[in-house]
Amino acid sequence: MLLNSLVLSLSVALGALAVSVPSPIEVIRRAHTTGAVITKCSKPGVLALAFDDGPYTFTSSLVDKLDAAGAKGTFFFTGTLYGCIYNQKAAVKKAYDNGHQIASHTWTHANLANLGTSQIQTEMTKVEQAFVNIFGKKPAYMRPPNLATSSSMLSVMKQMGYVVITDDIDAGDWNHQTAQQSEQKFTAAGASGNGHIPLMHETYDSTVNTLVPWLINWAKSNNLKIVTVAECLDDAANMYQPGNFTGNGASSC
Ligand SMILES: [Zn+2]
Repeated sequence: MLLNSLVLSLSVALGALAVSVPSPIEVIRRAHTTGAVITKCSKPGVLALAFDDGPYTFTSSLVDKLDAAGAKGTFFFTGTLYGCIYNQKAAVKKAYDNGHQIASHTWTHANLANLGTSQIQTEMTKVEQAFVNIFGKKPAYMRPPNLATSSSMLSVMKQMGYVVITDDIDAGDWNHQTAQQSEQKFTAAGASGNGHIPLMHETYDSTVNTLVPWLINWAKSNNLKIVTVAECLDDAANMYQPGNFTGNGASSC
């Protein structure tokens, strides 16, 4: 009887142990949470520089700056905001080829909170097809224009396999903040705790040529590694949708 209850409590303890130690597959699945809004990294010691609104005339030189620093960035590209994405095809391909994360910022920079399901899907599939045509992959990460979400938008993102990224520091470049004012926000937020995912835009000279070099130095002096958004969430293996896709030959918007 005593032996029986000992065996029983031992097996209960082992069962509890098995539940409390997740398998590697379970860890990956939890990090990759489609349809949920993520604002910052899931680990300390990293910084995920994430640039919205490109491709733009600065994209190629921004890739060069990141490459020279051994840093990886995340580019939330649109299809048409600053001209047709195919006109910047070489810069998009270069960012992808050099290991930066390419992610979606919708086709027209639409406010998805104001759209119905089929319009939201069209905003996503058109830019997906452009990425397939340019480098053969569909992204699995997106940032909503104006950071605008809604319950129907989030359910479409879940169904389409997208992790939704917003931010935990707004550089404010879109709102006439100077690079120095942006720098103060990073200094105030500090380098400890889980890594930051800032909101910033590659379409401002001051962001690309003043703030980014400052952030590269800030990261170095605080022992932060500059990584992609997916990497900062331990999800680097899932930054693109699974499967192979075929281009449709389109080269104009
Ligand atoms: Zn934007």
